[in-house]
Amino acid sequence: MEKAPATARENDFASGATVAVLVPLPLAGAYDYRVPDGITVALGDFVTVPLGPRQISGVVWAAGTGEVAADRLRDIVAILDVPPMPSAQREFLAWVSDYTLATLGSVLKLAMSVPAALAPPKPQTAYALGSATPDRMTPARSRVLEEVGAHPPRTAVELARAAGVTPSVVKGLANLKALIPVQLFPSAGFGQPDPSIEGPPLSAGQTQAAASLIAAVKASEFSVTLLDGVTGAGKTEVYLDAVAETLRAGNQALVLVPEISLTSQWLERFQRRFGAAPAEWHSDLTASKRRATWRAVAENNVQVVVGARSALFLPFPNLGLIVVDEEHDGSYKQEDGVIYNARDMAVVRARTGAFLTILVSATPSLETMVNTQSGRYGRVHLADRHGPAELPHMQTVDMRADPPPRGHWLSPVVTDAIGAELDAGSQAMVFLNRRGYAPLTLCRTCGHRMECPNCSAWLVEHRHTGHMECHHCGHRVRQPESCPECGAQDSMAACGPGVERVAEEIAALFPQARTAVMASDTVTGPAAAAEMVQAMANHEFDILIGTQIVAKGHHFPLLTVVAVVDADLGLSGGDLRATERTYQLLSQVAGRAGRAERPGRAFLQTYHPDHPVMAALISGDRDAFLAREAEDREAQKLPPFGRLVALIISGPDPGATETFARTVARAAPGQKGVRVLGPAPAPLSMLRGRHRHRLLLRAARSVNVQAYVRRWLEGVKTPSGVRLQVDVDPYSFL
Ligand code: ADP
Ligand code: ZN
Repeated sequence: MEKAPATARENDFASGATVAVLVPLPLAGAYDYRVPDGITVALGDFVTVPLGPRQISGVVWAAGTGEVAADRLRDIVAILDVPPMPSAQREFLAWVSDYTLATLGSVLKLAMSVPAALAPPKPQTAYALGSATPDRMTPARSRVLEEVGAHPPRTAVELARAAGVTPSVVKGLANLKALIPVQLFPSAGFGQPDPSIEGPPLSAGQTQAAASLIAAVKASEFSVTLLDGVTGAGKTEVYLDAVAETLRAGNQALVLVPEISLTSQWLERFQRRFGAAPAEWHSDLTASKRRATWRAVAENNVQVVVGARSALFLPFPNLGLIVVDEEHDGSYKQEDGVIYNARDMAVVRARTGAFLTILVSATPSLETMVNTQSGRYGRVHLADRHGPAELPHMQTVDMRADPPPRGHWLSPVVTDAIGAELDAGSQAMVFLNRRGYAPLTLCRTCGHRMECPNCSAWLVEHRHTGHMECHHCGHRVRQPESCPECGAQDSMAACGPGVERVAEEIAALFPQARTAVMASDTVTGPAAAAEMVQAMANHEFDILIGTQIVAKGHHFPLLTVVAVVDADLGLSGGDLRATERTYQLLSQVAGRAGRAERPGRAFLQTYHPDHPVMAALISGDRDAFLAREAEDREAQKLPPFGRLVALIISGPDPGATETFARTVARAAPGQKGVRVLGPAPAPLSMLRGRHRHRLLLRAARSVNVQAYVRRWLEGVKTPSGVRLQVDVDPYSFL
């Protein structure tokens, strides 16, 4: 990595020069401003500029465009006291904007998500021991002095709390000079992970994999490596070696994870390995933590960040490695605002910063596999589980041959197996990727279905809260006692199972067992999730019933049996990745079983035991499955062998929305290798009160779809109230 000497400022602009300043608003470009007298600015500097009647912070993006006449130019108001945005990050933002077709200003907004962090942090007053001893010693005073002596400086409030006194006691001691004030900056709270601490001894295969990642870190150039290995192979141990190497080189590392609230076990491991916690980045941070973290990253005071996809936009001055854990996970796709795939953009960020990205998975995405086969990405492989652990034995349960009793959801084959494992002192996990009690409620008298008034979706019963809820917009109503349509009493029937209903069945079958339900609505926030994971690991539960959040990364040594209630659930619907995703999700769920000494078994309840996905899961021949999937996609010229861009047009008025969708379709330029399909009402034809229509662009790989869409939409005027979203490389087709 080439680094400019710390003192040289990139392209200084002196007083009187014109520079283009980009602001975090949905604008396509940067505006010209004059550098005022007495200061110089450089590319990347955060500055405040006037915009209309107000002032706004932005980034010095380029030399002035000259589009504003000299006499109408306005002055930059101030340079902000924060490290400039590194050029690698500016280049990255420009790339994201070009690729996703989002305006550059809205991409900048992702990188300036914490405006408060641009102001220097206000120091807090903390107290250390002074030289004087108070004449009069009280028990309260001596407790405070003891506390101060035993710990690093803390604020008056914190000290008082620790000593069990009022803050006035602390203030009193300060007046007597028994305590002296010291200025403390919030960012001082970040520990420094120590790369010299030895990790666990690695197996031969792990050592080889780690060596090749370390070499790629040392190369200090852009590259991508897939770390491919079955669940429990020790991929985390291996990539932590690459993190250690990055730290030794004095660079920062970023680890992206799909579900940050589920990383408690990961965080503990990191802490044990490096002697300090990484900084976390996710939506549950408090405002002050966000501010401190953003700033500490910019000031190079944070060496390792573990975060959700938005962590990619943090202002790392010295980034030297990105790890994308569970790279195949669909949650890396951001579906609102700037629509991007964090996995793909991590690769772009590695390119602009000239470093390594490691994509980690037991079930890599087809995109990534194709990239390894073509040689664009490297691949290191861990074939076996670590230590004595073996992969779980998988079997399908044919629901036609071994059906559950009427009104039940678990086959006797499964309940027998769970019973046997519980008797042996093991734990079980039951997986169903559907929250709530029942996905559909209908009236047995008139057939009325409970639907969301704002979305084309059914309301899902949540029995533990007594509500019916829309999983798309959050609309909630109380569970009706009579049919809202025909008024019939006791006529509403729950159809189909959600996790709550399965939990009810389990409780009836295994009244002695301690059970828990884990779903995003029953476990809210990282602390609650961590607690539940810990309780399961400690064997405080016998059976954990949950949605996909139980599938992710957990290590439960006593878990030996996993049952999938509806293995066919993800296969319906016209999604091009339906089979691939089902394979990934089910292998991940099954992979929770048998991770320690006791062997594991996984049962897949299905009505299609012969489906290629089931066959692949049973045989464990992932690569053959992927090869066939690749053949199918290639034959149909679907990604990654062709390109897709979705246009979603939505508005409150059905007529106006549909008319505009047709107008957009008609405006599509003819071009060889490009086909535009639609418009058609979206499968989710109404969402949050907006009617939705979709267009799908299909193009050959060689087509520059961004250039095409830009040309297409150039002359299109979106009527007010209507929204046009562009989704490059769509993952959702709803
Ligand atoms: P993966 O990320 O591939 O699913 P992990 O890194 O989580 O696998 O490893 C699975 C389990 O095996 C963890 O409990 C981990 O601590 C343990 N493990 C892996 N490699 C080693 C090793 N070399 N020494 C000791 N324990 C290991
Ligand atoms: Zn709704």
